[in-house]
Amino acid sequence: MAFVQAAPRLGNQYDDDRVLRGYLERTLAPEQLEASRAQLARMGELAGGELYAQQLAERDLEPQLVQWDGWGNRVDRIELTPLWQRAEQIAAREGLIALPHEAPLGALSRVLQFALVYLFTPSTDVYACPLAMTDGAARTLAGAGNRELAARALPHLVSRDPARFWTSGQWMTEAIGGSDVGLAEAEARFAPGEGWRLYGRKWFTSAIASQMALTLARPAGNAPGGKGLALFYLETRDAEGRPNRLTVDRLKDKLGTRKVPTAELTLEGTPAIPVGELGNGVRAISTVLNITRVWNAVSAVSYMRRGLALARAYARERVAFGATLARKPLHVDTLAGLQAEFEAGFQLAFFVVELLGRAELGAASEEQQTLARMLTPVAKLLTGRQSVAVLSEVLEAFGGAGYVEDTGLPMLLRDAQVFPIWEGTTNVLALDALRAIAPTGLGPWLRELHLLLGAVRDKELVALSARLQAAAEASDAWLKARAGRDEAALEAGARRFALTLGRVTAAALLARQAQWSLEHRQDPAPRAAALRFAAAGVNLLQDHDPEISGLLSA
Ligand SMILES: Cc1cc2nc3c(=O)[nH]c(=O)nc-3n(C[C@H](O)[C@H](O)[C@H](O)COP(=O)(O)OP(=O)(O)OC[C@H]3O[C@@H](n4cnc5c(N)ncnc54)[C@H](O)[C@@H]3O)c2cc1C
Repeated sequence: MAFVQAAPRLGNQYDDDRVLRGYLERTLAPEQLEASRAQLARMGELAGGELYAQQLAERDLEPQLVQWDGWGNRVDRIELTPLWQRAEQIAAREGLIALPHEAPLGALSRVLQFALVYLFTPSTDVYACPLAMTDGAARTLAGAGNRELAARALPHLVSRDPARFWTSGQWMTEAIGGSDVGLAEAEARFAPGEGWRLYGRKWFTSAIASQMALTLARPAGNAPGGKGLALFYLETRDAEGRPNRLTVDRLKDKLGTRKVPTAELTLEGTPAIPVGELGNGVRAISTVLNITRVWNAVSAVSYMRRGLALARAYARERVAFGATLARKPLHVDTLAGLQAEFEAGFQLAFFVVELLGRAELGAASEEQQTLARMLTPVAKLLTGRQSVAVLSEVLEAFGGAGYVEDTGLPMLLRDAQVFPIWEGTTNVLALDALRAIAPTGLGPWLRELHLLLGAVRDKELVALSARLQAAAEASDAWLKARAGRDEAALEAGARRFALTLGRVTAAALLARQAQWSLEHRQDPAPRAAALRFAAAGVNLLQDHDPEISGLLSA
Protein backbone atom coordinates (compact mmCIF):
# COMPACT_ATOMS: atom_id res chain seq x y z
CA MET A 1 0.00 0.00 0.00
CA ALA A 2 1.27 3.45 -0.89
CA PHE A 3 1.48 5.83 2.05
CA VAL A 4 -1.49 8.17 2.45
CA GLN A 5 -1.22 11.19 4.71
CA ALA A 6 -4.07 11.65 7.22
CA ALA A 7 -5.81 15.00 6.86
CA PRO A 8 -5.59 17.15 9.98
CA ARG A 9 -8.80 17.03 12.04
CA LEU A 10 -10.38 19.62 14.25
CA GLY A 11 -12.09 18.88 17.55
CA ASN A 12 -14.50 21.06 19.50
CA GLN A 13 -12.96 24.47 18.92
CA TYR A 14 -13.99 25.76 22.34
CA ASP A 15 -12.84 22.74 24.35
CA ASP A 16 -9.55 22.62 22.44
CA ASP A 17 -8.66 26.27 22.88
CA ARG A 18 -6.51 26.86 25.96
CA VAL A 19 -6.11 30.54 25.09
CA LEU A 20 -9.83 31.30 24.81
CA ARG A 21 -10.78 29.27 27.88
CA GLY A 22 -8.02 30.81 30.02
CA TYR A 23 -8.95 34.32 28.94
CA LEU A 24 -12.67 33.82 29.65
CA GLU A 25 -11.93 32.23 33.01
CA ARG A 26 -9.88 35.26 34.03
CA THR A 27 -12.25 37.87 32.61
CA LEU A 28 -15.78 36.64 33.33
CA ALA A 29 -17.26 36.07 36.77
CA PRO A 30 -17.64 32.31 37.49
CA GLU A 31 -21.45 32.48 37.18
CA GLN A 32 -21.18 34.41 33.88
CA LEU A 33 -18.87 31.76 32.48
CA GLU A 34 -21.14 29.00 33.75
CA ALA A 35 -24.14 30.64 32.07
CA SER A 36 -22.26 30.95 28.77
CA ARG A 37 -20.42 27.64 28.63
CA ALA A 38 -23.08 25.57 26.86
CA GLN A 39 -23.41 28.14 24.07
CA LEU A 40 -19.64 28.39 23.64
CA ALA A 41 -19.30 24.60 23.52
CA ARG A 42 -22.14 24.38 20.99
CA MET A 43 -20.46 26.92 18.73
CA GLY A 44 -17.09 25.20 19.21
CA GLU A 45 -18.62 21.88 18.19
CA LEU A 46 -20.23 23.33 15.07
CA ALA A 47 -17.04 25.18 14.10
CA GLY A 48 -14.77 22.15 14.34
CA GLY A 49 -17.41 19.73 13.03
CA GLU A 50 -20.27 20.32 10.61
CA LEU A 51 -19.38 23.83 9.51
CA TYR A 52 -15.74 22.98 8.84
CA ALA A 53 -16.80 19.88 6.86
CA GLN A 54 -19.28 21.95 4.83
CA GLN A 55 -16.64 24.61 4.24
CA LEU A 56 -14.28 22.03 2.74
CA ALA A 57 -17.07 20.45 0.69
CA GLU A 58 -18.06 23.85 -0.77
CA ARG A 59 -14.53 24.91 -1.56
CA ASP A 60 -15.31 25.40 -5.25
CA LEU A 61 -18.64 27.21 -4.85
CA GLU A 62 -18.91 30.96 -5.22
CA PRO A 63 -21.78 33.44 -5.03
CA GLN A 64 -23.43 34.21 -8.35
CA LEU A 65 -24.90 37.44 -9.62
CA VAL A 66 -28.07 36.81 -11.65
CA GLN A 67 -28.72 40.07 -13.47
CA TRP A 68 -31.76 39.12 -15.59
CA ASP A 69 -34.67 36.74 -15.22
CA GLY A 70 -35.95 34.59 -18.07
CA TRP A 71 -38.44 37.30 -19.09
CA GLY A 72 -35.98 40.10 -19.51
CA ASN A 73 -36.49 41.79 -16.13
CA ARG A 74 -33.45 43.21 -14.39
CA VAL A 75 -33.34 41.33 -11.07
CA ASP A 76 -29.74 41.62 -9.83
CA ARG A 77 -30.21 38.69 -7.48
CA ILE A 78 -27.23 37.33 -5.53
CA GLU A 79 -27.22 33.58 -5.01
CA LEU A 80 -25.19 32.87 -1.90
CA THR A 81 -23.37 29.64 -1.15
CA PRO A 82 -25.27 27.14 1.07
CA LEU A 83 -22.76 27.67 3.90
CA TRP A 84 -23.42 31.41 3.83
CA GLN A 85 -27.16 30.80 4.00
CA ARG A 86 -26.67 28.51 6.97
CA ALA A 87 -24.25 30.95 8.62
CA GLU A 88 -26.92 33.66 8.51
CA GLN A 89 -29.37 31.42 10.34
CA ILE A 90 -26.83 30.45 12.99
CA ALA A 91 -25.77 34.07 13.46
CA ALA A 92 -29.36 35.13 14.10
CA ARG A 93 -30.22 32.25 16.42
CA GLU A 94 -27.05 32.52 18.46
CA GLY A 95 -27.55 36.28 18.81
CA LEU A 96 -24.24 37.31 17.23
CA ILE A 97 -25.70 40.77 16.64
CA ALA A 98 -28.36 40.72 19.37
CA LEU A 99 -26.07 39.95 22.32
CA PRO A 100 -24.62 43.42 22.95
CA HIS A 101 -28.15 44.85 22.80
CA GLU A 102 -29.63 42.21 25.11
CA ALA A 103 -26.54 42.62 27.36
CA PRO A 104 -26.98 39.45 29.45
CA LEU A 105 -23.49 39.91 30.95
CA GLY A 106 -23.67 43.70 31.30
CA ALA A 107 -20.51 45.43 30.05
CA LEU A 108 -18.94 42.00 29.41
CA SER A 109 -21.63 41.00 26.90
CA ARG A 110 -19.31 42.08 24.09
CA VAL A 111 -16.76 39.54 25.40
CA LEU A 112 -19.27 36.71 25.07
CA GLN A 113 -20.40 37.95 21.64
CA PHE A 114 -16.86 38.12 20.30
CA ALA A 115 -15.86 34.78 21.86
CA LEU A 116 -18.69 33.27 19.78
CA VAL A 117 -17.66 35.29 16.71
CA TYR A 118 -14.09 34.07 17.13
CA LEU A 119 -15.29 30.44 17.09
CA PHE A 120 -17.76 30.99 14.24
CA THR A 121 -15.63 33.06 11.84
CA PRO A 122 -12.96 30.70 10.50
CA SER A 123 -15.58 28.05 9.65
CA THR A 124 -18.03 30.30 7.80
CA ASP A 125 -16.11 31.67 4.82
CA VAL A 126 -15.92 35.30 6.04
CA TYR A 127 -19.62 35.60 6.80
CA ALA A 128 -18.23 37.82 9.59
CA CYS A 129 -18.01 40.55 6.93
CA PRO A 130 -21.77 41.29 6.63
CA LEU A 131 -22.19 40.63 10.35
CA ALA A 132 -19.57 43.22 11.26
CA MET A 133 -21.31 45.87 9.17
CA THR A 134 -24.68 44.83 10.61
CA ASP A 135 -23.35 45.20 14.14
CA GLY A 136 -22.00 48.65 13.28
CA ALA A 137 -25.26 49.71 11.64
CA ALA A 138 -27.34 48.49 14.60
CA ARG A 139 -25.23 50.50 17.05
CA THR A 140 -25.33 53.56 14.78
CA LEU A 141 -29.13 53.46 14.46
CA ALA A 142 -29.54 52.78 18.19
CA GLY A 143 -27.56 55.93 18.98
CA ALA A 144 -28.49 58.29 16.13
CA GLY A 145 -31.65 59.69 17.69
CA ASN A 146 -33.73 58.98 14.56
CA ARG A 147 -36.60 57.12 16.23
CA GLU A 148 -38.48 56.29 13.06
CA LEU A 149 -35.48 54.66 11.41
CA ALA A 150 -34.46 52.84 14.58
CA ALA A 151 -38.01 51.51 14.95
CA ARG A 152 -38.03 50.31 11.33
CA ALA A 153 -34.63 48.61 11.06
CA LEU A 154 -33.32 47.83 14.53
CA PRO A 155 -35.81 45.07 15.39
CA HIS A 156 -34.64 43.23 12.24
CA LEU A 157 -30.92 43.77 12.82
CA VAL A 158 -30.99 42.46 16.39
CA SER A 159 -33.56 39.73 15.78
CA ARG A 160 -32.81 36.14 16.79
CA ASP A 161 -35.45 34.90 14.34
CA PRO A 162 -33.74 34.00 11.03
CA ALA A 163 -36.95 34.87 9.15
CA ARG A 164 -36.91 38.46 10.49
CA PHE A 165 -33.15 38.95 10.65
CA TRP A 166 -31.61 41.57 8.34
CA THR A 167 -27.99 42.28 7.58
CA SER A 168 -26.65 45.68 6.57
CA GLY A 169 -24.05 46.91 4.14
CA GLN A 170 -21.71 49.83 4.69
CA TRP A 171 -21.11 51.53 1.37
CA MET A 172 -18.32 54.03 1.70
CA THR A 173 -15.68 53.26 -0.87
CA GLU A 174 -15.94 54.85 -4.30
CA ALA A 175 -13.54 54.50 -7.21
CA ILE A 176 -12.03 57.83 -6.24
CA GLY A 177 -11.33 56.87 -2.66
CA GLY A 178 -11.61 54.25 0.05
CA SER A 179 -9.30 55.73 2.63
CA ASP A 180 -9.89 59.31 1.52
CA VAL A 181 -13.70 59.05 1.53
CA GLY A 182 -14.05 62.84 1.76
CA LEU A 183 -13.61 62.76 -2.04
CA ALA A 184 -16.82 60.73 -2.50
CA GLU A 185 -18.82 61.78 -5.54
CA ALA A 186 -22.21 60.13 -4.88
CA GLU A 187 -24.88 62.81 -4.73
CA ALA A 188 -28.12 63.08 -2.76
CA ARG A 189 -30.93 65.13 -4.29
CA PHE A 190 -34.13 66.09 -2.56
CA ALA A 191 -37.36 66.11 -4.54
CA PRO A 192 -40.53 67.45 -2.90
CA GLY A 193 -43.00 64.62 -2.50
CA GLU A 194 -40.32 62.03 -3.21
CA GLY A 195 -37.74 62.61 -0.48
CA TRP A 196 -34.03 62.00 -0.90
CA ARG A 197 -32.62 60.07 -3.85
CA LEU A 198 -29.03 58.91 -4.30
CA TYR A 199 -27.01 58.97 -7.53
CA GLY A 200 -23.49 57.70 -8.24
CA ARG A 201 -21.27 54.63 -8.11
CA LYS A 202 -20.14 52.62 -5.12
CA TRP A 203 -16.98 50.68 -5.85
CA PHE A 204 -16.67 48.05 -3.09
CA THR A 205 -19.93 46.89 -1.48
CA SER A 206 -19.44 43.60 0.27
CA ALA A 207 -22.81 42.90 1.85
CA ILE A 208 -24.69 43.28 -1.39
CA ALA A 209 -27.19 40.58 -0.45
CA SER A 210 -28.18 42.64 2.61
CA GLN A 211 -31.61 44.15 3.03
CA MET A 212 -30.29 47.62 3.93
CA ALA A 213 -27.16 49.74 3.87
CA LEU A 214 -25.70 52.82 5.46
CA THR A 215 -23.95 54.92 2.87
CA LEU A 216 -22.38 58.31 2.30
CA ALA A 217 -23.56 60.85 -0.27
CA ARG A 218 -23.20 64.59 -0.69
CA PRO A 219 -26.49 66.50 -0.53
CA ALA A 220 -26.60 68.69 -3.64
CA GLY A 221 -25.00 72.05 -2.93
CA ASN A 222 -23.03 70.84 0.12
CA ALA A 223 -19.36 71.75 0.49
CA PRO A 224 -16.64 69.37 -0.75
CA GLY A 225 -14.77 67.17 1.76
CA GLY A 226 -15.90 64.82 4.51
CA LYS A 227 -17.99 67.45 6.30
CA GLY A 228 -20.17 67.95 3.22
CA LEU A 229 -21.12 64.26 3.10
CA ALA A 230 -24.17 62.94 4.93
CA LEU A 231 -24.97 59.47 6.23
CA PHE A 232 -27.98 57.87 4.57
CA TYR A 233 -30.06 54.77 5.23
CA LEU A 234 -31.43 52.84 2.28
CA GLU A 235 -33.16 49.56 1.57
CA THR A 236 -31.74 47.52 -1.27
CA ARG A 237 -35.09 46.15 -2.54
CA ASP A 238 -38.41 47.89 -3.12
CA ALA A 239 -41.78 46.64 -1.86
CA GLU A 240 -42.00 44.20 -4.82
CA GLY A 241 -38.54 42.79 -4.12
CA ARG A 242 -36.96 44.53 -7.14
CA PRO A 243 -33.59 46.32 -6.92
CA ASN A 244 -34.41 49.68 -5.36
CA ARG A 245 -33.34 51.91 -8.24
CA LEU A 246 -29.82 50.57 -8.22
CA THR A 247 -27.92 48.17 -10.43
CA VAL A 248 -25.30 45.64 -9.46
CA ASP A 249 -22.76 46.11 -12.26
CA ARG A 250 -20.61 43.12 -11.38
CA LEU A 251 -19.13 41.04 -8.57
CA LYS A 252 -15.42 41.60 -8.15
CA ASP A 253 -12.94 38.84 -8.97
CA LYS A 254 -10.80 38.80 -5.81
CA LEU A 255 -7.64 37.17 -4.43
CA GLY A 256 -9.55 35.84 -1.41
CA THR A 257 -12.84 36.24 0.49
CA ARG A 258 -14.32 34.61 -2.59
CA LYS A 259 -17.55 33.59 -0.87
CA VAL A 260 -18.18 37.26 -0.02
CA PRO A 261 -20.15 38.89 -2.84
CA THR A 262 -18.34 42.21 -3.25
CA ALA A 263 -20.06 44.32 -5.85
CA GLU A 264 -19.72 47.45 -7.91
CA LEU A 265 -22.99 49.36 -7.83
CA THR A 266 -24.69 52.22 -9.59
CA LEU A 267 -27.21 54.22 -7.61
CA GLU A 268 -29.87 55.50 -10.00
CA GLY A 269 -32.09 57.58 -7.76
CA THR A 270 -32.15 55.11 -4.85
CA PRO A 271 -34.63 56.31 -2.19
CA ALA A 272 -32.75 57.08 1.03
CA ILE A 273 -33.32 58.64 4.44
CA PRO A 274 -30.77 60.80 6.26
CA VAL A 275 -29.74 59.06 9.49
CA GLY A 276 -29.12 62.39 11.21
CA GLU A 277 -27.90 65.79 10.07
CA LEU A 278 -27.26 66.59 6.41
CA GLY A 279 -23.49 66.81 6.84
CA ASN A 280 -20.60 65.45 8.89
CA GLY A 281 -21.23 62.03 7.37
CA VAL A 282 -17.71 60.75 7.88
CA ARG A 283 -18.01 61.43 11.59
CA ALA A 284 -21.49 59.85 11.63
CA ILE A 285 -20.25 56.59 10.10
CA SER A 286 -17.32 56.33 12.52
CA THR A 287 -19.38 54.14 14.90
CA VAL A 288 -19.70 51.56 12.13
CA LEU A 289 -15.97 51.75 11.43
CA ASN A 290 -14.99 51.36 15.07
CA ILE A 291 -17.08 48.25 15.39
CA THR A 292 -16.01 46.69 12.09
CA ARG A 293 -12.37 47.25 13.11
CA VAL A 294 -12.96 45.29 16.30
CA TRP A 295 -14.57 42.50 14.23
CA ASN A 296 -11.55 42.60 11.94
CA ALA A 297 -9.11 42.20 14.85
CA VAL A 298 -11.08 39.29 16.32
CA SER A 299 -11.42 37.67 12.88
CA ALA A 300 -7.68 38.01 12.26
CA VAL A 301 -6.84 36.24 15.53
CA SER A 302 -9.48 33.58 14.85
CA TYR A 303 -7.80 32.81 11.51
CA MET A 304 -4.40 32.54 13.20
CA ARG A 305 -5.90 30.15 15.74
CA ARG A 306 -7.45 28.01 12.97
CA GLY A 307 -4.18 27.79 11.05
CA LEU A 308 -2.32 26.80 14.19
CA ALA A 309 -4.93 24.22 15.23
CA LEU A 310 -4.54 22.56 11.82
CA ALA A 311 -0.74 22.82 11.83
CA ARG A 312 -0.52 21.28 15.30
CA ALA A 313 -2.83 18.43 14.31
CA TYR A 314 -0.72 17.80 11.20
CA ALA A 315 2.53 17.87 13.16
CA ARG A 316 1.24 15.05 15.37
CA GLU A 317 0.68 12.84 12.31
CA ARG A 318 3.28 13.72 9.72
CA VAL A 319 6.45 11.68 9.92
CA ALA A 320 9.73 13.01 8.51
CA PHE A 321 13.25 11.82 9.22
CA GLY A 322 12.11 9.08 11.60
CA ALA A 323 9.70 10.94 13.88
CA THR A 324 6.55 13.01 13.78
CA LEU A 325 7.06 16.73 13.17
CA ALA A 326 5.71 17.28 16.69
CA ARG A 327 8.94 15.67 17.94
CA LYS A 328 11.26 17.77 15.80
CA PRO A 329 12.63 20.60 17.96
CA LEU A 330 12.97 23.03 15.06
CA HIS A 331 9.41 22.47 13.82
CA VAL A 332 8.11 22.88 17.38
CA ASP A 333 10.13 26.06 17.76
CA THR A 334 8.73 27.43 14.49
CA LEU A 335 5.12 26.79 15.55
CA ALA A 336 5.82 28.18 19.03
CA GLY A 337 6.84 31.51 17.51
CA LEU A 338 3.53 31.63 15.62
CA GLN A 339 1.56 30.60 18.70
CA ALA A 340 3.18 33.45 20.66
CA GLU A 341 2.14 35.97 17.99
CA PHE A 342 -1.41 34.60 18.06
CA GLU A 343 -1.68 34.66 21.87
CA ALA A 344 -0.48 38.27 22.04
CA GLY A 345 -2.82 39.33 19.22
CA PHE A 346 -5.69 37.55 20.97
CA GLN A 347 -5.14 39.47 24.21
CA LEU A 348 -4.97 42.79 22.37
CA ALA A 349 -8.09 42.15 20.29
CA PHE A 350 -10.15 41.10 23.31
CA PHE A 351 -8.88 44.03 25.38
CA VAL A 352 -10.35 46.33 22.75
CA VAL A 353 -13.56 44.27 22.87
CA GLU A 354 -13.74 44.91 26.64
CA LEU A 355 -13.19 48.65 26.14
CA LEU A 356 -15.93 48.76 23.50
CA GLY A 357 -18.37 46.93 25.78
CA ARG A 358 -17.71 49.29 28.67
CA ALA A 359 -17.95 52.42 26.50
CA GLU A 360 -21.28 51.36 25.00
CA LEU A 361 -22.89 50.84 28.39
CA GLY A 362 -21.56 54.12 29.74
CA ALA A 363 -19.30 52.19 32.12
CA ALA A 364 -15.98 53.47 30.72
CA SER A 365 -14.04 56.24 32.41
CA GLU A 366 -12.88 59.21 30.32
CA GLU A 367 -9.43 57.61 30.23
CA GLN A 368 -10.81 54.24 29.06
CA GLN A 369 -12.72 55.97 26.25
CA THR A 370 -9.50 57.65 25.14
CA LEU A 371 -7.74 54.28 25.29
CA ALA A 372 -10.45 52.71 23.13
CA ARG A 373 -9.96 55.42 20.50
CA MET A 374 -6.18 54.89 20.53
CA LEU A 375 -6.10 51.13 20.64
CA THR A 376 -8.91 50.17 18.24
CA PRO A 377 -6.92 51.16 15.11
CA VAL A 378 -3.74 49.78 16.69
CA ALA A 379 -5.32 46.38 17.43
CA LYS A 380 -6.78 46.20 13.94
CA LEU A 381 -3.52 47.02 12.21
CA LEU A 382 -1.29 44.78 14.33
CA THR A 383 -3.52 41.70 14.17
CA GLY A 384 -4.12 42.20 10.43
CA ARG A 385 -0.40 42.10 9.74
CA GLN A 386 0.19 39.24 12.15
CA SER A 387 -2.47 37.10 10.50
CA VAL A 388 -0.85 37.33 7.05
CA ALA A 389 2.62 36.51 8.43
CA VAL A 390 1.36 33.68 10.64
CA LEU A 391 -0.78 32.06 7.95
CA SER A 392 1.99 32.25 5.38
CA GLU A 393 4.19 30.31 7.82
CA VAL A 394 1.32 27.93 8.63
CA LEU A 395 1.13 26.98 4.94
CA GLU A 396 4.87 26.26 4.96
CA ALA A 397 4.35 24.09 8.06
CA PHE A 398 2.38 21.72 5.79
CA GLY A 399 5.11 21.60 3.14
CA GLY A 400 3.68 21.06 -0.34
CA ALA A 401 0.20 20.27 1.00
CA GLY A 402 -0.06 23.85 2.22
CA TYR A 403 0.14 25.03 -1.39
CA VAL A 404 -2.49 22.67 -2.75
CA GLU A 405 -6.04 23.94 -3.08
CA ASP A 406 -8.04 20.85 -2.14
CA THR A 407 -6.46 20.72 1.31
CA GLY A 408 -8.45 23.91 2.00
CA LEU A 409 -5.27 25.54 3.34
CA PRO A 410 -4.39 28.20 0.72
CA MET A 411 -7.78 29.82 1.31
CA LEU A 412 -6.67 30.74 4.84
CA LEU A 413 -3.82 32.89 3.57
CA ARG A 414 -5.82 34.43 0.74
CA ASP A 415 -8.64 35.39 3.09
CA ALA A 416 -6.24 36.72 5.73
CA GLN A 417 -4.68 39.08 3.20
CA VAL A 418 -7.82 41.19 3.37
CA PHE A 419 -7.48 41.87 7.11
CA PRO A 420 -4.80 44.55 6.70
CA ILE A 421 -6.60 46.14 3.73
CA TRP A 422 -10.29 46.66 4.36
CA GLU A 423 -11.64 48.78 7.21
CA GLY A 424 -8.50 50.90 6.90
CA THR A 425 -5.05 49.91 5.69
CA THR A 426 -2.08 49.75 8.05
CA ASN A 427 -0.86 53.24 7.17
CA VAL A 428 -4.27 54.84 7.29
CA LEU A 429 -4.91 53.34 10.72
CA ALA A 430 -1.47 54.33 11.99
CA LEU A 431 -2.30 57.94 11.11
CA ASP A 432 -5.72 57.49 12.72
CA ALA A 433 -4.03 56.33 15.93
CA LEU A 434 -1.83 59.45 15.90
CA ARG A 435 -4.95 61.62 15.59
CA ALA A 436 -6.57 59.78 18.51
CA ILE A 437 -3.44 60.28 20.64
CA ALA A 438 -2.93 63.96 19.77
CA PRO A 439 -5.31 65.52 22.36
CA THR A 440 -3.88 63.68 25.40
CA GLY A 441 -0.48 62.36 24.38
CA LEU A 442 0.41 58.86 25.62
CA GLY A 443 -0.46 59.56 29.28
CA PRO A 444 -3.61 57.34 29.45
CA TRP A 445 -1.77 54.49 27.75
CA LEU A 446 1.29 54.75 30.01
CA ARG A 447 -0.96 54.67 33.08
CA GLU A 448 -2.84 51.62 31.78
CA LEU A 449 0.45 49.79 31.15
CA HIS A 450 1.58 50.60 34.65
CA LEU A 451 -1.62 49.04 36.00
CA LEU A 452 -1.33 45.95 33.82
CA LEU A 453 2.31 45.33 34.66
CA GLY A 454 1.79 46.12 38.34
CA ALA A 455 0.06 42.74 38.71
CA VAL A 456 3.14 40.81 37.56
CA ARG A 457 5.16 38.93 40.25
CA ASP A 458 6.96 36.10 38.46
CA LYS A 459 10.70 36.83 38.10
CA GLU A 460 10.85 36.41 34.32
CA LEU A 461 7.67 38.42 33.81
CA VAL A 462 9.02 41.20 36.03
CA ALA A 463 12.13 41.38 33.81
CA LEU A 464 9.87 41.47 30.76
CA SER A 465 7.84 44.29 32.34
CA ALA A 466 10.96 46.40 32.71
CA ARG A 467 11.65 45.94 29.01
CA LEU A 468 8.11 46.90 28.11
CA GLN A 469 8.21 49.97 30.32
CA ALA A 470 11.43 51.03 28.60
CA ALA A 471 9.84 50.59 25.16
CA ALA A 472 6.79 52.57 26.33
CA GLU A 473 8.97 55.42 27.56
CA ALA A 474 10.93 55.37 24.29
CA SER A 475 7.62 55.64 22.39
CA ASP A 476 6.60 58.61 24.51
CA ALA A 477 9.94 60.32 23.95
CA TRP A 478 9.75 59.59 20.22
CA LEU A 479 6.30 61.18 20.00
CA LYS A 480 7.20 64.23 22.07
CA ALA A 481 10.29 64.89 19.95
CA ARG A 482 8.21 64.99 16.76
CA ALA A 483 4.58 65.99 17.45
CA GLY A 484 4.14 69.65 16.57
CA ARG A 485 7.84 69.92 15.58
CA ASP A 486 8.51 67.70 12.60
CA GLU A 487 5.26 66.52 11.03
CA ALA A 488 7.01 64.75 8.13
CA ALA A 489 9.08 62.65 10.53
CA LEU A 490 6.01 61.96 12.66
CA GLU A 491 4.04 60.74 9.65
CA ALA A 492 6.90 58.70 8.20
CA GLY A 493 7.34 56.86 11.50
CA ALA A 494 3.62 56.45 12.25
CA ARG A 495 3.46 52.77 11.23
CA ARG A 496 6.50 51.76 13.32
CA PHE A 497 5.11 53.84 16.18
CA ALA A 498 1.64 52.23 16.01
CA LEU A 499 3.12 48.74 15.72
CA THR A 500 5.29 49.46 18.76
CA LEU A 501 2.25 50.59 20.76
CA GLY A 502 0.46 47.43 19.65
CA ARG A 503 3.30 45.07 20.49
CA VAL A 504 3.99 46.66 23.87
CA THR A 505 0.29 46.59 24.82
CA ALA A 506 -0.17 43.02 23.60
CA ALA A 507 2.92 41.85 25.50
CA ALA A 508 1.74 43.58 28.70
CA LEU A 509 -1.73 42.02 28.41
CA LEU A 510 -0.17 38.62 27.79
CA ALA A 511 2.11 39.10 30.82
CA ARG A 512 -0.97 39.80 32.96
CA GLN A 513 -2.68 36.67 31.60
CA ALA A 514 0.52 34.71 32.21
CA GLN A 515 0.72 35.79 35.85
CA TRP A 516 -2.92 34.79 36.34
CA SER A 517 -2.31 31.42 34.66
CA LEU A 518 0.67 30.67 36.88
CA GLU A 519 -1.39 31.45 39.98
CA HIS A 520 -4.76 29.96 39.06
CA ARG A 521 -4.04 27.17 36.61
CA GLN A 522 -0.41 26.34 37.28
CA ASP A 523 -0.03 26.74 33.53
CA PRO A 524 3.29 28.24 32.37
CA ALA A 525 2.33 28.29 28.66
CA PRO A 526 1.14 31.94 28.53
CA ARG A 527 4.41 33.01 30.20
CA ALA A 528 6.36 31.18 27.51
CA ALA A 529 4.20 32.91 24.90
CA ALA A 530 4.79 36.34 26.44
CA LEU A 531 8.56 35.88 26.57
CA ARG A 532 8.71 34.49 23.06
CA PHE A 533 6.49 37.25 21.65
CA ALA A 534 8.65 39.96 23.23
CA ALA A 535 11.83 38.25 22.04
CA ALA A 536 10.61 38.74 18.46
CA GLY A 537 10.74 42.52 19.12
CA VAL A 538 8.46 45.06 20.71
CA ASN A 539 10.16 48.37 19.95
CA LEU A 540 10.12 48.90 16.20
CA LEU A 541 10.91 52.60 16.29
CA GLN A 542 13.79 53.88 14.26
CA ASP A 543 14.88 57.36 13.51
CA HIS A 544 13.34 58.86 10.44
CA ASP A 545 15.88 59.22 7.67
CA PRO A 546 14.92 62.13 5.39
CA GLU A 547 16.90 60.52 2.55
CA ILE A 548 14.75 57.39 2.63
CA SER A 549 12.51 58.57 -0.24
CA GLY A 550 15.62 58.33 -2.47
CA LEU A 551 15.25 54.54 -2.23
CA LEU A 552 12.16 54.74 -4.41
CA SER A 553 13.73 56.71 -7.25
CA ALA A 554 14.10 54.95 -10.58
C1 LIG B 1 -12.59 42.38 -0.40
C2 LIG B 1 -12.89 43.80 -0.13
C3 LIG B 1 -14.16 44.16 0.29
C4 LIG B 1 -14.47 45.48 0.56
N1 LIG B 1 -15.74 45.79 0.99
C5 LIG B 1 -16.06 47.08 1.23
C6 LIG B 1 -17.40 47.45 1.63
O1 LIG B 1 -18.28 46.60 1.82
N2 LIG B 1 -17.68 48.75 1.81
C7 LIG B 1 -16.75 49.72 1.63
O2 LIG B 1 -17.05 50.89 1.82
N3 LIG B 1 -15.47 49.41 1.25
C8 LIG B 1 -15.12 48.13 1.05
N4 LIG B 1 -13.84 47.80 0.67
C9 LIG B 1 -12.90 48.87 0.37
C10 LIG B 1 -11.79 49.03 1.37
O3 LIG B 1 -12.29 49.47 2.61
C11 LIG B 1 -10.76 49.99 0.77
O4 LIG B 1 -10.23 49.37 -0.39
C12 LIG B 1 -9.66 50.29 1.74
O5 LIG B 1 -10.15 51.07 2.81
C13 LIG B 1 -8.48 51.03 1.08
O6 LIG B 1 -8.92 52.11 0.35
P1 LIG B 1 -8.42 52.32 -1.17
O7 LIG B 1 -8.74 51.08 -1.91
O8 LIG B 1 -8.98 53.60 -1.65
O9 LIG B 1 -6.86 52.40 -1.07
P2 LIG B 1 -5.95 53.73 -1.03
O10 LIG B 1 -6.47 54.63 0.01
O11 LIG B 1 -5.80 54.24 -2.40
O12 LIG B 1 -4.59 53.14 -0.52
C14 LIG B 1 -3.50 52.76 -1.34
C15 LIG B 1 -2.24 52.69 -0.47
O13 LIG B 1 -1.93 53.99 -0.01
C16 LIG B 1 -1.74 53.99 1.38
N5 LIG B 1 -2.17 55.28 1.90
C17 LIG B 1 -3.36 55.91 1.68
N6 LIG B 1 -3.38 57.10 2.31
C18 LIG B 1 -2.17 57.24 2.90
C19 LIG B 1 -1.55 58.26 3.67
N7 LIG B 1 -2.21 59.40 3.97
N8 LIG B 1 -0.29 58.07 4.11
C20 LIG B 1 0.37 56.93 3.85
N9 LIG B 1 -0.14 55.93 3.12
C21 LIG B 1 -1.40 56.08 2.65
C22 LIG B 1 -2.59 52.85 1.90
O14 LIG B 1 -2.10 52.38 3.15
C23 LIG B 1 -2.43 51.83 0.78
O15 LIG B 1 -1.27 51.08 1.00
C24 LIG B 1 -13.49 46.47 0.42
C25 LIG B 1 -12.20 46.12 -0.01
C26 LIG B 1 -11.90 44.81 -0.26
C27 LIG B 1 -10.52 44.46 -0.72
